[in-house]
Amino acid sequence: MTNNVSMETIVSLCKRRGFVFPSSEIYGGLASCWDYGPFGVELKRNIKDAWWKTIVQERDDVTGLDTSILMHPRVWTASGHVDSFADSMVECKSCHLRWRAEELRDEKCPKCGGKLTKPRMFNLMFKTFMGPVEDEASTIYLRPETAQGMFVNFENVVAISRKKLPLGIAQIGKSFRNEITPGNFVFRTREFEHMEMEYFVKPGDDKHWFDYWVKERFNWYIGLGIKKENLRLRQHSKEELAHYAKDCYDIEYLFPMGWAELEGIANRGNYDLTQHAKFSGKDLSYYDNESGQRYIPYIIEPSAGVERSFLAFLIDSYREEVVGGEKRVVLSLHPSLAPIKVAVLPLSRNEKLTPLAKEIYGQLRSSFMTYYDDTQSIGRRYRRQDETGTLFCVTIDFESLEDHQVTIRDRDSLAQIRVPIEKLEQTLQTKLSGEPFDASPLWATREK
Ligand code: ATP
Repeated sequence: MTNNVSMETIVSLCKRRGFVFPSSEIYGGLASCWDYGPFGVELKRNIKDAWWKTIVQERDDVTGLDTSILMHPRVWTASGHVDSFADSMVECKSCHLRWRAEELRDEKCPKCGGKLTKPRMFNLMFKTFMGPVEDEASTIYLRPETAQGMFVNFENVVAISRKKLPLGIAQIGKSFRNEITPGNFVFRTREFEHMEMEYFVKPGDDKHWFDYWVKERFNWYIGLGIKKENLRLRQHSKEELAHYAKDCYDIEYLFPMGWAELEGIANRGNYDLTQHAKFSGKDLSYYDNESGQRYIPYIIEPSAGVERSFLAFLIDSYREEVVGGEKRVVLSLHPSLAPIKVAVLPLSRNEKLTPLAKEIYGQLRSSFMTYYDDTQSIGRRYRRQDETGTLFCVTIDFESLEDHQVTIRDRDSLAQIRVPIEKLEQTLQTKLSGEPFDASPLWATREK
């Protein structure tokens, strides 16, 4: 089973409309590294803001953190990454392509059918050196996850937040993994952003909170518009579970190449704090006032990737339809995710229309991410805005100069309403907060 939208379609839209460019393109690009263009950066920011709002802003029991990418090397020994954050890799003896052993169905090279070498373990952490001397003692790692920053700050956060367990610590930040087979556009890359939350709970309460977070995270994607039939939960088998994990679910999305992980939710038991206590010599146990007990908290971890969400939101919102005999491509992204909320479009580039259009643009941009465009025909400009998911187009025409009204066009219903300029911002606010466009008493026409 695969998604109806092909990856080529999405890659081409992303390039054409300025969502994603190959990194260092003028030098021929760098494998599986991508730059986010003017629209891509907005979508990414909106995804992170939506996550932060749900996980931190709207909750009493979670607090935010931003820790450094470079950490003390012993962190990665304690966490188990130095010894076991590795993939099993094989190489084709004919074409020399390398593969993750777990991806292979039989013992032949999927590309040329050649014989494969025996599997060998390959550590996925990027290594570099700190300071001017390049030796063993100055070796440092680029973090492969943000989680460790939260574990090692557990004590600090508990002390400062004056909160009791259950307590969550959340952060969004870059992670690096020297993946053997990056690919599928931004699905698997060597540099990406994590949105992670470590939820510290009393042992024994972990099953309840694990189930709770699996549901919460699944529903987050649905609340932001992902179709339910394109999402599923998959529980890890005993063999697949990481050595520290008690239980783990993947939220999978139906990508064009098939079902694949979008986010993982793990019950990590008390492994992390136990390890850090052992390696740092610090007592990381927690004194529970209510029960009078001291214990090492268990941790429930929802861990999501910004870029995978980015890709899923793009694929799921992509639609092609025929309007007025012409194909229109539209990204029906959730209002909070749409890169641009309002486009201001004077009917034509005309010396009489421009001043009013610019004035309106100036007024709206402090409230909404707004875009100004006066090139080409209005029909073409509507299509361009549809392709980047802009929610509303505001058109200024010659009548506007007389009656001080402008037209708002809605991306999804194509309904158009005419509103007085002084009510424009308020109307857009109301529409943005979800009032259905067609229900408006001001509803006038619909683009055919
Ligand atoms: P996979 O099995 O696909 O390699 P994982 O199980 O190693 O992923 P986690 O360590 O659970 O991934 O990380 C949590 C999330 O971070 C993933 O669900 C994914 O969204 C994102 N992620 C992990 N690795 C990458 C990567 N190389 N590129 C982009 N996103 C990633």
